[in-house]
Amino acid sequence: MDESLIKQLIEELGDDKVSVNKDLLNELSEDMTEIDGHKPDCIVTPECKDDILKVIGFANKYKIALTPVIANTNIGGLAIPNKGGIILNLKKMNRIVEVNEEDMYAVLEPGVTFGQLKEYLDGHHPSLRFGYPLSPPYTSVVANCLLDGLGNLSLAHGSMSSWVNGMEVALASGELLKTGSGAYTKFWYSRSPLPDLSGLFINFQGTTGIVTQMSVQLWPKKKYRKRLFILGYEIDGTYSLIKKLAVEDLYDDIGGLSWPLGKMLFGVKYPKSKDSHEPMLFVFIDISSNYEEEMSFKLDVIYKKVSEFRQKGVPLDDPFDIDVLVRLNPAFTKFTEMPTTLDFLLDHGGGGLTWVGTYGPMSQWEKGIKKGISILEGMGFPPVMVSRPMNGGHFVVLRFIILFNKKDNGEVQKVREVNGILCRSLLELGFIPYKTPPWVVEMMRNNLDPVFRNWTQEVRKLFDPNGIMNPGKWDC
Ligand SMILES: Cc1cc2nc3c(=O)[nH]c(=O)nc-3n(C[C@H](O)[C@H](O)[C@H](O)COP(=O)(O)OP(=O)(O)OC[C@H]3O[C@@H](n4cnc5c(N)ncnc54)[C@H](O)[C@@H]3O)c2cc1C
Repeated sequence: MDESLIKQLIEELGDDKVSVNKDLLNELSEDMTEIDGHKPDCIVTPECKDDILKVIGFANKYKIALTPVIANTNIGGLAIPNKGGIILNLKKMNRIVEVNEEDMYAVLEPGVTFGQLKEYLDGHHPSLRFGYPLSPPYTSVVANCLLDGLGNLSLAHGSMSSWVNGMEVALASGELLKTGSGAYTKFWYSRSPLPDLSGLFINFQGTTGIVTQMSVQLWPKKKYRKRLFILGYEIDGTYSLIKKLAVEDLYDDIGGLSWPLGKMLFGVKYPKSKDSHEPMLFVFIDISSNYEEEMSFKLDVIYKKVSEFRQKGVPLDDPFDIDVLVRLNPAFTKFTEMPTTLDFLLDHGGGGLTWVGTYGPMSQWEKGIKKGISILEGMGFPPVMVSRPMNGGHFVVLRFIILFNKKDNGEVQKVREVNGILCRSLLELGFIPYKTPPWVVEMMRNNLDPVFRNWTQEVRKLFDPNGIMNPGKWDC
C-alpha cells in the first residue's frame, strides 16, 4: 500500500483506527513459531461491524490483503500477513453481547478473551461454565472456536467448533451473514435444524469471512470439582488406562503430559533428561458433579481401574489430588484453575514456541506417541508432549511441543526439520494437524481427496473472488 492509499483509509476510518507504527508492524509480522514472517503495510483496529465492512470494502476495491488477528497465539503462522496489506486487529471488539442463562449460550464479539469470559460468568452467571484451553487468558474465544481448538471440556463436549451455535460473518460482498438459529430468531440456541452454513467459516482461518459475533454454548457449573493426578511409568499401560476411563462417559477431561512437561510444571527449565525412577507420564483427570455420592462414585471408578491395571503389572502410582502438588510446590496453583498462563512455555528466554498438534484416531494413539517421542529424542529435543482423548473417546489430540531460540538461525532450521519429520510421520498414521499451518497444507496437498481440494478452493473463490482474505492460508 502506498502512502496515498493509507491516507485514504485514514480518511474513511479516522486516524485513531489506522496505525503504521513501525514497532507494531514488526510485532505483527511474525508469531512465536519458526514460520517466516511478512510485514503488513498498516494495522486497522475496528470498533464496530461498520468499521469492518468499510475495511473489507476498501480492501476489495484496491485488492489489498486483509488478515484478521486477535492475540496471534495460534502457533501456526495463521495470522502472518503473507501478502502484506492490512492487519485487522479485532482486540477492541470485545463485547459480551448477551448471556442467555436459561438457553445456556453467550454471544461474543471476536475480541472477547477466555479470561474475560470466565470473569464475567463467575461474576454475573455463576451457575454457568465454559471450557478453557491451556492458552493464556488473553486469547480469543471466537478465534479458538473458529480454529476448532480444544479445552478442558473437550472430552465431554468435543472440539470447540462443536460448541458454536452460529455466527455473524462480514463477507467480502459487503453483507452480514447469520448462521444457525440466529438466522431466524433472536434466540441463538443451536445450529440445528437449518442448513448448517457455519462450517463454511470453521477451520477456514479467516479466508472466507470475518466473524463479527458468535454464539457459543455454556454448560451448568457443577457443585463439586476435583483434579486428580496419576503418575505412569510406561506408555502402553498408562494409555490403555486413559482409554478405558475416556469411554466411561464420567469425566470432564483427561490428559497425559510427558515427563519434560511434568518437570516444567515443577519449575525445571526445559529438562533434557529424566532419572530412571521418575515417571514417564503425568495423567490428569478433571471430575465434576452436583452430588457427593456422584463424586465418590466417579472417584471409585478411577481407583478401581488403577488397582486393576496395577494387578496386571502396569507400573502406576496411586492417584492423588492436585492439592497435594500445590502443598509440595505452590507454583502448581496456576494449574488448579483455567484459563491460566503456562509461563514456562512463553518466558523461556528464546521467544520461540512451536508444535505439531494433531487430531487422530484413538486406535493409533500409542503408536503416534512413541513415534513422536523417538523422533524428538533422536534429534536431541526433549520429548514434550500433551495428549487427550476428545469427544467421549471418538478421537484424540496429540501435540509435540518445542521451545527454541528464534534468533538462532541454526536452531530455527533444526526446528523446521524436526517438525517436518514429526508431521509426515503422524500424517502417515492418520493424524491431521489442527490449526493447520500453511507448510502442513502444502505437505498434505497431494494426498488430499482431489474433490475436497477443488471444493475447498471453490468455496474460497465464492466468498472471496479477489483473494484478499488472509491469503496464503488453506491454499490447497
Ligand atoms: C502456551 C499456549 C498454550 C495453548 N494451549 C492451547 C490449548 O490448550 N488448546 C487450544 O485449542 N489452543 C491452544 N493454544 C493456541 C492458541 O492460543 C489458540 O489457538 C487461541 O485461542 C487463538 O486465539 P488468538 O486470539 O491468539 O487468535 P489469533 O492467532 O489472533 O487468530 C487465529 C486465526 O483466526 C483468524 N481469525 C481471528 N479472528 C477472526 C475473525 N473474527 N474471523 C475470522 N477469522 C479470524 C486469524 O486470521 C487466524 O487465522 C495455546 C497457545 C499458547 C501460546
